[in-house]
Amino acid sequence: MKNLPLALLLIISIISCNEKTSDKNIEATKDPNSFAIVIHGGAGGIKPEYFTKAQQEAYTQKLEEALNAGYTVLDNGGISLDAIQAAINIMEDSPLFNAGKGAVYNSDGNQEMDAAIMDGNTLNAGAVAGINHIKNPILAARIVMDSSKHVLLSGKGAEIMAKKYGIEMVDSSYFFTEKRMNQLKKLQGKTTTTLDHTAFLIKNELIDDHKYGTVGAVAIDKNGNIAAGTSTGGMTNKKYGRIGDVPIIGAGTYANNLTCGISATGTGEYFIRTVAAHEVSNLIKFKKFSPDNALNEVLFNQIGPLGGEGGMILIDKHGDVYWDFNSSGMFRGYKKSNGESKIAMFEKMK
Ligand code: ASP
Repeated sequence: MKNLPLALLLIISIISCNEKTSDKNIEATKDPNSFAIVIHGGAGGIKPEYFTKAQQEAYTQKLEEALNAGYTVLDNGGISLDAIQAAINIMEDSPLFNAGKGAVYNSDGNQEMDAAIMDGNTLNAGAVAGINHIKNPILAARIVMDSSKHVLLSGKGAEIMAKKYGIEMVDSSYFFTEKRMNQLKKLQGKTTTTLDHTAFLIKNELIDDHKYGTVGAVAIDKNGNIAAGTSTGGMTNKKYGRIGDVPIIGAGTYANNLTCGISATGTGEYFIRTVAAHEVSNLIKFKKFSPDNALNEVLFNQIGPLGGEGGMILIDKHGDVYWDFNSSGMFRGYKKSNGESKIAMFEKMK
């Protein structure tokens, strides 16, 4: 350095100074104490003609209730992990969504649920797969994260652990709903699996399978910590033992304070093959994509061409909320501490 001409030294110091300043500006864009939560209730063939006004109202009310539960936790100074858990619990307890009480059936006529949660501050994560006696699967995912050295527990092992930690267990009959059983009956014996809310024709009969969905939430708390969680019954008529993208960290669920938190919904196999949520995070981190562009790239240029369908919700490190989907609709909503909020099902607007 000693021999470098003075002018060159000056240029080097100006460049490094600029870098520091711009980094600082990026970090400073989240308002101190601001917070936000975004949720989804599944994506798929969600079109206005499939829903009565009363049904639309029921979905809106439940999404609002879930959003408010998570928002209240954040408003009271709670952490993002507790906020997403509160929001997801409400959707799991509702038969409107394909998670917990409203879980869909596999081809054998049983329910097998998956859930995951991730802490963007520590990169800790917990997940459960193939369970059917835990009332709120997201709570079991949290127990795996907080109280074991593992990330993913399946079946009986997950249930034994949840029980040991006092999570509410139920008989599998708790998850019975006639509507779900009817959905399965229309597909059983066929090779088709469907997203819960995908409508399609078999021998000219409209398969009314589009009205419920996987649930997920992402939140950023006052301290800037991001968390993401997802809970699902999977896909109607899936094979016994099938595990989807939801409990695969990086596929359907991911959070990292350096980039964003994401929860996905859609045909899980494609989200696994593209490692969708982590791919979005990496595009933001390494390729400097905006969250909008990163979501668009993964959904439309990676998942779509493979034949996959679905959507993702995202909160970035600045506390900004994004969502996108390549299906006709996605149940979704967000609420921010600056007073902005929205609930939507069909049209693709922020
Ligand atoms: N992604 C879920 C799965 O494949 C389904 C959904 O999002 O509705 O298990």
